[in-house]
Amino acid sequence: MPMPPQVHVFVRDWLSGNNVLLRSGDGHVLVDSGYSTHAPLTLALVARVLEGAPLSRLVNTHGHSDHVGGNAAVKQAYGCPIAFPAAEADLVEQWDTKTLLFDYADQDAPRFGVDERLHAGTTHVWGDLEWRMLAAPGHDMGALVFYNPEHRILVSGDALWANGYGFVMPQCMAPEALPATRATLDMIAALDVRVVIPGHGEAFTDVRAALDRAYRRTEAFAADDTRMARYALKALLAFTLLARRSMAITDLPSYVERVGVYRDMNAAVLRMTPPALAQMLVDELLRANAIRVTGATISPA
Ligand SMILES: [Zn+2]
Repeated sequence: MPMPPQVHVFVRDWLSGNNVLLRSGDGHVLVDSGYSTHAPLTLALVARVLEGAPLSRLVNTHGHSDHVGGNAAVKQAYGCPIAFPAAEADLVEQWDTKTLLFDYADQDAPRFGVDERLHAGTTHVWGDLEWRMLAAPGHDMGALVFYNPEHRILVSGDALWANGYGFVMPQCMAPEALPATRATLDMIAALDVRVVIPGHGEAFTDVRAALDRAYRRTEAFAADDTRMARYALKALLAFTLLARRSMAITDLPSYVERVGVYRDMNAAVLRMTPPALAQMLVDELLRANAIRVTGATISPA
């Protein structure tokens, strides 16, 4: 993938969002910090490129655990300021672990503070490149994407992947989320993008095809709230399995009753008994080859 020499992309596994390290004589900048349990690997990847140089700033695309889980560790290692989307900086300052989907989704992120607020519409120079901060609500209502017009690079976070985007809350729980998702795709479609560096997966250049897939998914979600809820809970459970490595199948009914996002989405949309919801999630993740069953436990495929 042709990339300016100061742009280093660390493509991580699905548990950690990708990191982008932007090198500059004026100070190196890291975009996103991965999941908490992967913080040692995040620090090692950064250190290998920096070769002892300081990090001048850590910036985040949005506040989810797989993008900010290493924030505290990076801050401790480098003492650098953390720049965060202004639209959800207050959630971090208040440590709103429900809206940020931390304990509410059985996910973990060590607490950190916001040193600098990134406002949509402003431009920041990182890695000797100008990056425009663009609001990208939908999957996360406060998210930003970063666009460099010179090289036509979009750091898209979870707003656009090669195949889809981060899950969106069902319409009956968050009526603003799906229209915002559509508007964000329209905003990206109107940009002149050569290469997308997504929050998950390899960088890609066929932006039109990715947008087409994202629009199709959005229309399928719009037609069926239960489809959105099933997709969201499957994504969350698959993510938790990556973090935990395995879970006992017999624990799942109480798990989906105990963990807030499963309980609330089930009550609002799916309306299944906890055992039926647990069984449906296992069956559909198996069918998608996302998990495997070994005896009485499930683990990532
Ligand atoms: Zn996310």
